[in-house]
Amino acid sequence: HAKATGGGVFSSYHPRMREGLADRLELESDLRAALENGDLRLHYQPTVDLATSQVIGFEALVRWPHPTRGMINPLDFIPIAEATGMIVPLGRWVLHEACRQAVAWAAAGDGPPPKMSVNVSVRQFDRADLSEMVTQVLTDTGMPADRLCLEMTESVLMTDTEANLEQLLRLKALGLTLAIDDFGTGYSSLAYLRRFPVDTLKIDRSFVERLGVIADDTALTDTIVRLGKSLGMATVAEGIEEFGQLAALREMGCGFAQGYYFSRPVPADEAGRLFLEGANV
Ligand code: C2E
Ligand code: MG
Ligand code: MG
Ligand code: MG
Repeated sequence: HAKATGGGVFSSYHPRMREGLADRLELESDLRAALENGDLRLHYQPTVDLATSQVIGFEALVRWPHPTRGMINPLDFIPIAEATGMIVPLGRWVLHEACRQAVAWAAAGDGPPPKMSVNVSVRQFDRADLSEMVTQVLTDTGMPADRLCLEMTESVLMTDTEANLEQLLRLKALGLTLAIDDFGTGYSSLAYLRRFPVDTLKIDRSFVERLGVIADDTALTDTIVRLGKSLGMATVAEGIEEFGQLAALREMGCGFAQGYYFSRPVPADEAGRLFLEGANV
């Protein structure tokens, strides 16, 4: 319609779309302010060892309590952060805060120190200095590298493959572990899995959700667990909500799990209590 009405590029926009754009720009500047003012928060979801039922660590998940819109879901602002490049300082903040917290919990407890998993966006891999940034954070916080796990999606393996492979090798050289998040939803080939220095497969919640309900999903989950085993990788099931799913995953020999069945992601004080009281969830 833009041509017919003789208008410019924007003439085909419906007013609602303009509102959408203004909204988006406002959200963008609010996010920048939140990041600068230290208004973002981390919640922590326990990772459970299925052999012992012990909480062995946490995944850090970013939260944005917005002054007027309430809590904004990361799926609604991480894409904005990625599109604007804000993901770089935001990702650095998340890593720093998660490591600082893990070190504090380790010092406060007398059991085994917690492992900490942090999500890293594919956009952070575009930066050649990613491993320098991680090194700096480990040094600044005193976090031992072997307690840190970085989670990435399969897209990191599939895009910019050579450059990202080098980045992953540099990260591995620091002594940390690497996990593929949402495994099974992307398009990574088995050849890539062998080639990349990946330690852990996180089985996407969509498979776990239909365990025991849809035979194909049960078979796929079992296959992923076996694949992990045969490649010497750990397997973590995401999104366990029911006992039946837990039992099925144990039966398959899946090593670790997360999910509402054990605990939702919770604020630091609550996660600290879970960990320090040695909760057997
Ligand atoms: P993810 O890394 O796959 O994290 C798991 C998501 O599933 C989390 O959503 C978690 O709250 C949710 N979840 C966990 N257990 C259950 C369950 O039993 N049932 C259901 N229905 N959901 C469950 P959340 O916190 O909203 O995060 C969504 C996604 O946003 C994350 O998926 C991750 O991709 C991204 N994200 C979160 N924090 C960060 C961050 O600090 N940096 C980056 N780059 N991405 C992040
Ligand atoms: Mg994750
Ligand atoms: Mg995931
Ligand atoms: Mg997921």
